[in-house]
Amino acid sequence: MKCFKRNLKPNNAKSLSKMSISHISKSIYQLDISPPKFLGQLNKDIRCSVAIIGGGLTGISTALSLCEKGFDVCLFEAGNIGDGGSGRNGGQICQGWSSSFEKLSKYIDPEFKEDMWQAGLEGPNLIKERIKKYKIECDVHWGYVHTAIHKGHMRELEAYQKSFEAHGYNHLLALNNKSSLFNYICSDAYIGGLYDAGSGHLHPLKYLIGLSKAASIAGAKIYTNSSIFSIQTANNKNKLITKQGHSVIAEQLVICGNAYLGAVSPKNMRGKIAPVTSSVMATEPLNNAEIKSVIPSRAAIADGNTALNYFRIDKQNRMIFGGRASYLNTDPINVEKDLKKRMRAVFPDLMHKKIQQAWSGRIGITVNRLPHFGRISDSAIYVQGYSGHGVAFSGVAGNILSDAVSGKKDRFNQLTKILHLPFPGGPLRTPILALGMGWYKMRDYFHI
Ligand SMILES: Cc1cc2nc3c(=O)[nH]c(=O)nc-3n(C[C@H](O)[C@H](O)[C@H](O)COP(=O)(O)OP(=O)(O)OC[C@H]3O[C@@H](n4cnc5c(N)ncnc54)[C@H](O)[C@@H]3O)c2cc1C
Repeated sequence: MKCFKRNLKPNNAKSLSKMSISHISKSIYQLDISPPKFLGQLNKDIRCSVAIIGGGLTGISTALSLCEKGFDVCLFEAGNIGDGGSGRNGGQICQGWSSSFEKLSKYIDPEFKEDMWQAGLEGPNLIKERIKKYKIECDVHWGYVHTAIHKGHMRELEAYQKSFEAHGYNHLLALNNKSSLFNYICSDAYIGGLYDAGSGHLHPLKYLIGLSKAASIAGAKIYTNSSIFSIQTANNKNKLITKQGHSVIAEQLVICGNAYLGAVSPKNMRGKIAPVTSSVMATEPLNNAEIKSVIPSRAAIADGNTALNYFRIDKQNRMIFGGRASYLNTDPINVEKDLKKRMRAVFPDLMHKKIQQAWSGRIGITVNRLPHFGRISDSAIYVQGYSGHGVAFSGVAGNILSDAVSGKKDRFNQLTKILHLPFPGGPLRTPILALGMGWYKMRDYFHI
């Protein structure tokens, strides 16, 4: 039986304390709404058919999908539902894969290529279906603009539109000049863009709570404040131990701890994602005139930079503005000041607005920016590293993982063929990653 235990040597304890970075401030969503505690902390030894680690969008989507198939599922979340990236993100629903399909497609068998292309598009429709089926109130709004800062971005957007339309996706509209762009977003920071009616935005924590309630009603046993401290796996038998010392014996295991998994991360997963800190702020509500003068369409917006800005007006009329990627594994400082500077460059007229909340969270990114699916034994599988693209794709991943658990492994097996290199650098990893990001920021600045 393979065993992955946290190593609590003093030097590791230091890095674990650094890993608490994303919990220093609650997100505005966590101030809006508190998730139920469901069954609370696990307080006895149990057995189940499938155990899931992680109460974010991936773990909960997998649990729901498995319960819909009739499985006996237990889910373990270290804190509360949505404490990870899923309760702290920008709320942007973006279809497609997190990196170019060409990159992914070279690993996929020819007969699966079109299916994989379509898998990238399934996320938004799945969100629509689940909102309807489970009556989830989550302030969803459809419409998304990819904005171009310079001509290089416009060329990228033209190529993007061409490739999506070649596969029959017809929700895109090129915004080739400022006057067409200004129907959607009024900012001199951009020269054009691409409107996508098939993507949009939502309140991520309300959506996650809605999914969690649906999973719980469908039979999932959801334990919160139940951190998994060690994982032992062998064929058809997995043993988890919680921080409080209770054991869970499960026939199958699905690991969805993503960038928060830390030291318990099994060897095959470790080093293949880097936890990048991204930050978001919420302003006080804008009045109608202000909304019309910034984002009259109320679409979600993201620019074409590698260290991009992403923003939207939410149902409460607040500007939810995100950006600022940090590869340094330290507490983020000056978050609000830095995000205000970024917002001023896009919307100078909003500088007088008060900031209600600013927060950060951890995104799992992979070297090739494609999600990392894999297995640690015949009965234990995982996914991690959506590279900032998980609001929509986590639902698709949940279906792929639950299909794999139930024996339908086609998509899962194809995706495990993608080569994921570890991030270079060993102990010097953080400075090297920070240097790498510096290079990308320089490219953004000089429009390379
Ligand atoms: C600031 C920020 C902004 C973002 N904006 C966007 C956006 O606008 N659009 C988009 O598509 N994506 C965005 N993302 C990315 C998106 O949030 C993630 O891709 C997605 O939430 C990943 O979901 P997940 O369930 O895989 O991981 P997470 O939501 O991170 O969940 C993992 C969970 O596992 C739990 N866990 C970890 N280890 C253990 C353990 N040992 N025992 C028990 N539980 C454990 C954690 O506590 C956590 O709750 C953003 C992320 C951040 C941080």
